[in-house]
Amino acid sequence: MESNNDEPRRLDGRTVSGLQQALREQAIRAMNRGGRSHHGRGGGRHRGRPPGLRGREIGMFYRQRAMEREQQEELESFVLLQPEIIVKVQKMLSEYDSASTSTFRSEFENYFKSIRSTSFEQNMKEKLLESCVEQDDRLDEKMMIEYDEMMDNLKFQENMITREKLPVNTKKEEILNAIASNQVVLISGDTGCGKTTQVPQYVLDSYLSSGKASLCKIFCTQPRRISAITVAERVAWERAQHLGESVGYQIRLQSVLPHERGSITYCTTGILLKRLESDPLLNGISHIFLDEVHERDVNTDVVMGLLKEIISHRPDLKVILMSATFNTSTFSAYFNNCTNIEVQGTLFPVTEFYLEDVLEETKFANFPEEVQRKRPKWEKYRNKYKQSDSLDDYTSFIEPYARSVQDKYSKFVIEGIKNPNSEKINVDLLTALIFHISFNKPAGAILVFLPGYEAISKLHTSITNSKFYSAEKFKVYALHSMMPTADQKSVFSRPPENVRKVIISTNIAETSITIDDVVYVINSGKSKMTNYNPETKLQTLEEVWTTLANNKQRRGRAGRVQPGICYHLFTRAREFTMDALPTPEILRTRLESVILNLKMLRIHDVAQFLRKLVSVPDDSVVQTSIALLKRLNALDEREFITPLGLHLARLPIDPQIGKMILLAALFKCVDPITSVAANLSFKDPFYRPLGKEKLVDDIRVKFSKDTKSDHLMAANVITEYREEKRKGNERSFCYDNFLSISTLNQLEKMKGQFTDLLMEARFLESSDPTDPKNNYNSSNLDLLRSIISAGLYPNVAKVRRVKICKRRVDPRMDIITPEDGRVSFHPSSINSKQTGFEYKFFAYFMKQKSTAIYLFDTTMINPRALLIFGDGEGAGFDQLGNHFILLGDSFRFRTNRVSAEVILKLREKFDELLQKKAINPGPVDPESEDALLLGAITEVLNAGRFSGHPDYSSDEGNVM
Ligand code: ADP
Ligand code: MG
Repeated sequence: MESNNDEPRRLDGRTVSGLQQALREQAIRAMNRGGRSHHGRGGGRHRGRPPGLRGREIGMFYRQRAMEREQQEELESFVLLQPEIIVKVQKMLSEYDSASTSTFRSEFENYFKSIRSTSFEQNMKEKLLESCVEQDDRLDEKMMIEYDEMMDNLKFQENMITREKLPVNTKKEEILNAIASNQVVLISGDTGCGKTTQVPQYVLDSYLSSGKASLCKIFCTQPRRISAITVAERVAWERAQHLGESVGYQIRLQSVLPHERGSITYCTTGILLKRLESDPLLNGISHIFLDEVHERDVNTDVVMGLLKEIISHRPDLKVILMSATFNTSTFSAYFNNCTNIEVQGTLFPVTEFYLEDVLEETKFANFPEEVQRKRPKWEKYRNKYKQSDSLDDYTSFIEPYARSVQDKYSKFVIEGIKNPNSEKINVDLLTALIFHISFNKPAGAILVFLPGYEAISKLHTSITNSKFYSAEKFKVYALHSMMPTADQKSVFSRPPENVRKVIISTNIAETSITIDDVVYVINSGKSKMTNYNPETKLQTLEEVWTTLANNKQRRGRAGRVQPGICYHLFTRAREFTMDALPTPEILRTRLESVILNLKMLRIHDVAQFLRKLVSVPDDSVVQTSIALLKRLNALDEREFITPLGLHLARLPIDPQIGKMILLAALFKCVDPITSVAANLSFKDPFYRPLGKEKLVDDIRVKFSKDTKSDHLMAANVITEYREEKRKGNERSFCYDNFLSISTLNQLEKMKGQFTDLLMEARFLESSDPTDPKNNYNSSNLDLLRSIISAGLYPNVAKVRRVKICKRRVDPRMDIITPEDGRVSFHPSSINSKQTGFEYKFFAYFMKQKSTAIYLFDTTMINPRALLIFGDGEGAGFDQLGNHFILLGDSFRFRTNRVSAEVILKLREKFDELLQKKAINPGPVDPESEDALLLGAITEVLNAGRFSGHPDYSSDEGNVM
């Protein structure tokens, strides 16, 4: 492969004697350490050994030098462009240069410049002079008349009877007084007591009735999209109005706005953050309700931090925090010990049962046997970051507990809870319990808490397929943020007598949605949580045990109208191991998106701002995120946001994946790349049933169709699924291939969301991912892989050597990354099953460290793509006058002068084009000079692939 390695190299200006001295010291250091040095490019610069080494030192010196040389070689490659390609591309580039104009769309230019040049503080001060809402007497008069009419409305009066019964009503005057005399008030109360629906109305009505409604504009934030809509609908209904009169909602991509003044807008916290970008003082808003602050989602924490700064500039702005009844002192302390009004709920007693009681009562004993198979080693590592391993739990506390209660329960129950599978989500047990309640217990709705969509959909199917089920006797609802909102209204209404209502929900029904007639709660004890491990730089969405606070909320949902029952599907022993409170999201997430959002708010010193939040994220996480944003070109060297960063900030996904879909729009390969992006941001559609892993892996290889890419394999799955769905075949297709229909449907939905956003940002003309206009290049495999690598960059690995074992690539084959040294393809990656590769470079998304480091999902990439889409210090000569290009600060490509020039020019122009497109968004016009540049890039990429000339494909070409 590489040649000339015996030749001395000289990359820096150190003198030979200085170098000799350094090498000697290094050799001695290495000897003392007995390990290898990591100065990749440092060694091997002189043929002879330094004078003065003696005995063992000499041996150590040569060993050390050989290792360093090897390491250096590993990171070095060749790239040469064919002369005819160079001529062609140079011509295209010069045409591009002469035609290229880089016009800022003027309104964008001003906006962009002001984002970089002003601070949040300055921006607030400027806006201070701008506007101050004046009372409008005529408007007040008109609204007062409307208010009187509403009060006379029979429907309104009828609704009022129910409203007045809510616990919060007893505190109405106290709350209004507190808000009038304090800038910040905290209202805490049990879920369902009426905070969200009533308190904003109290405030609005007090303005309406006193004829000052033109001064009242209320915003109430919700952590979830779906609750913003349901709550707004409910409140409009209570007021006997339609949405869009005095009540409305606003969520991303969807809104029904109310009247400008004298109104309540329920919005997501994200919408409020967006508004703060252009309206940092929240001019015109009189009251901000921050609802569900106890949930501690990132946006709410950030908004609290911002409001703390805003209120000193807006003494007339009222901030009302609303929270469930735990941990309230944290919030009041954060706002300078603000007034806290506690609303006492009128909760009925709820009896609690645990798994052991449920088994006894339902006689359920049908747990899958724990398969005592020999687990491959890697599988153990896979679970390493999961909360706990069920086997360990079993020995540490389940077994002792089972022993301690063996006299109180039947033998099959004790055997049941001893089975390590018994606390896992078990659809059969859930179904059995639901029918048990339905046929044996008094009337009342059943609310089941499950971690996510997949479990919800399985249980839904299991119930409706059961022989005990009939559509006349049961009404089964699923509540999940991905469900269409239209289906959700009737979930609140009481079913006719003799019809059992069953609601299967995520934790959304824990606090933000209240269904009154629930008497039975089934708590699986699980919820989904994102987690970030700063060490592995990995973010995961995991199923975790709920906390005691969650359990309390869930239990409480059973006692709304009468005494209720809560069935926990975990043992009493498990409860002792549960955490008291959930960890705030900001402490368990990557921060790239948060940082970009703060930059959009003109907060330049994000680290300093984050230190002022209720919970302060680790500084190393902040710094890692800033570094990544710089490499993505979302921030410049001085950490200012770039035009590209500005667009990435607007996409609701990781900036890395955001960059990938922006490129897909520019390069017109939207369908496959949005599939990849959805897959990476959501999850893999494959099931991996125990004992069937090999089969699933083979199916994945089949879907990969020689793309050498786990990511494109997932895109192929979505395409084929769509095809099968058209034929009405999707069920058997999914069954045969271990695919989850619900995941695939959601992936399709997400793709639609991405294209909506790209269209909104003017990067696409059509929001249909499959529109041919968006997909001119969707079958250009090399381009697709290049775009994937551009998005995943700088996650790059290189194959050093390939080992073949039983005609397959050894999964522990020799691959390296600059940061980790040796890594391996995870056995589930389709690339671990290949026998040959055209290129040696791979992009990856997920990496996990155990005794070895595994790359979970990989895409083979043309190194030319890396050179064009990557970053690095540039190019130069080594001592022999050989040209090289750097990729990042680690991979070196030897090349010749013209190739280096062309490649670096393409890299530079492409960065320019991205920023230019960001400044002036729009699809690339095929007739334009931009298309010329993209054409030149495609030309270079393709030439790398098809070159048969040994000189030009020596290193990029066949590994084997
Ligand atoms: P909190 O915010 O304190 O949890 P809410 O204001 O959300 O309470 O709800 C108060 C009451 O209003 C609930 O107990 C429930 O009875 C009723 N309610 C709220 N939303 C709806 C809805 N969409 N449909 C029917 N009833 C609702
Ligand atoms: Mg609420």
